Amino acid sequence: MSKRIYIAYNGGTIGMKQSSQGYTPEPGYLQSLMQAMPMFYQPGMPEFEVHAFPELLDSANMHPDDWLKIAEDIADHYNDYDGFIVLHGTDTMAYTASALPFMLQGLRKPVIITGSQIPLCEIRNDARDNLITSLLIASQYAIPEVCLFFGGRLIRGCRAVKVDAKGFQAFASPNYPLLGQAGIDIDIHWSAIRPVPVTPPNLHVQAINQAVVGALRLFPGISAQVLANMLQPPLQGLVLEAYGLGNGPAKDPDFLKVLAEATERGVVIVDVTQCLKGGVEIASYATGRALAEAGVISGGDMTAEAALAKLYYLLTVGYSAEQTRELMGISLCGELSVD
Ligand code: ASP
Repeated sequence: MSKRIYIAYNGGTIGMKQSSQGYTPEPGYLQSLMQAMPMFYQPGMPEFEVHAFPELLDSANMHPDDWLKIAEDIADHYNDYDGFIVLHGTDTMAYTASALPFMLQGLRKPVIITGSQIPLCEIRNDARDNLITSLLIASQYAIPEVCLFFGGRLIRGCRAVKVDAKGFQAFASPNYPLLGQAGIDIDIHWSAIRPVPVTPPNLHVQAINQAVVGALRLFPGISAQVLANMLQPPLQGLVLEAYGLGNGPAKDPDFLKVLAEATERGVVIVDVTQCLKGGVEIASYATGRALAEAGVISGGDMTAEAALAKLYYLLTVGYSAEQTRELMGISLCGELSVD
């Protein structure tokens, strides 16, 4: 029997149309283009249904409330389809791909987030291939994970980062092997894919939009005042994008004092690296240890996107600061390498 795939169309370049304001999403346009393209209906393709969200978004406008709408839409149709595709803009695709694994608990079917750098309406585009290959992967391989497919790469959602503003291979998985690759053949790397979850028994959507969190990238010259402003209440958690193995300006006592005071108040401060690849080893340098002594915890090799999503998740669920710090060091959905 032919597999059935649900396409949740959230927005993004893939379905946009040229207008006097530049590319903008237009209701019904993507669907009409697809209907005019026979390859979407050829034998070998799964059956699919496109469900467009009431407001199609440029993903630069996404908010955690929109993540929840996507997760709930998948849950509402979960029993009727074999796999799910989320069509999404590339700008914040890695954030949504990082958030959904924390939200779709007990997921046993593939959820593939994709989009494109050039809209489907253009003669030269990457939309067609990203969409067709996503449809084939979602229908042919029972991957129980949220994945991102783009430019031939199948990436675990919570490991994805956008690395190219223009190229077709716009996403990478710097700290975890690809889940699959599409060249002449589609190769799925089953050894990298998570096992089917044991609990919860049914899909459960966990909202993660009820926490106040932030992210701050260190830079030479950053003042204690800038950091203090960022850490003002009601902030509950901060992703601190630090240098190299997780180092920061340890010779600035005011800076360290602001970190320690915020930690004392219960703000969870998570150290991730600004580097594309590798992770935090906070005790390697005095400049990392000083942050740790001020209460900053290591985010290991999590991407900044995954660390942010995880803070949203843990703090929305209502874990205490202490519990959140502890859970930050445990891999909950494959977002972190632990030895
Ligand atoms: N600004 C667009 C978006 O993120 C870019 C894209 O889709 O590639 O929605």
